[in-house]
Amino acid sequence: MSKQFTLKIYRGQPGKQYWEEFRLDLKPAMNVISALMDIRRDPVNTQNQRVEPVVWEDGCLEEVCGSCSMLVNGRPRQACTALIAPILEESKSKVITLAPFTKFPLVRDLMVDRTRMFENLKKVQAWIEGDSSHDRGPGPSVSQAKQEVMYTLSTCMTCGCCSESCPQVNNESEFMGPAPISQVRLFNTHPTGKNTASKRLHKLMGADGISSCGNAQNCYEVCPKNIPLTESISAIGRQVTIQAVKDLFSFPEED
Ligand code: SF4
Ligand code: SF4
Repeated sequence: MSKQFTLKIYRGQPGKQYWEEFRLDLKPAMNVISALMDIRRDPVNTQNQRVEPVVWEDGCLEEVCGSCSMLVNGRPRQACTALIAPILEESKSKVITLAPFTKFPLVRDLMVDRTRMFENLKKVQAWIEGDSSHDRGPGPSVSQAKQEVMYTLSTCMTCGCCSESCPQVNNESEFMGPAPISQVRLFNTHPTGKNTASKRLHKLMGADGISSCGNAQNCYEVCPKNIPLTESISAIGRQVTIQAVKDLFSFPEED
């Protein structure tokens, strides 16, 4: 007889959420996404009621796009890399809970709207200003050590796990969370991005910026890409302080 387990899912719409359970056969290499797909094929709950299929978001299924973020047994992570067997073994339980993130507006079931994160990336100008209208030859060389730091920072997939775990990201606070701060570090390290570093730093000087970080370090603990977020926050904190001192002795730059 095949081994069975239960997915207990916090589903519903804004203002009307409820727990619903589904019993499933454990298959080899099954992950949370393939378990949800099994439910979609035959959405019958443990009460033997045929219900609406569960809604969730996914994309690449290889922990690169950041879209299948959810709380798996209460931990913010990507559903695509959440393998069922090890989770059952670790929890010593036959039940796995799935819930949507709480720091983003709920769309439905396990799907939330992460627009806020992308808006914050726009706000801090997380890009390199470039003019590709003509070939200007190779850019400045970047040391191996810098390349390694930049590569790690560039793996951020805007999944939102860091914001979900951060106590400073809440309804009372405007804090934009650690990911955009870390992206400022990435683009301020880039030899071309450096030219516009002060613009990015100024965007982090408000109530939604770096001063709202309480240094609880939860963000670093949950980042699926192991991005050194607290290191980024310290590095950018220093850059913001130096920028503030420079501002005291110069005319403000135009945005
Ligand atoms: S920093 Fe890590 S946890 Fe935060 S959005 Fe990027 S990949 Fe996700
Ligand atoms: S260090 Fe703590 S307060 Fe700062 S961004 Fe990370 S989780 Fe939030």
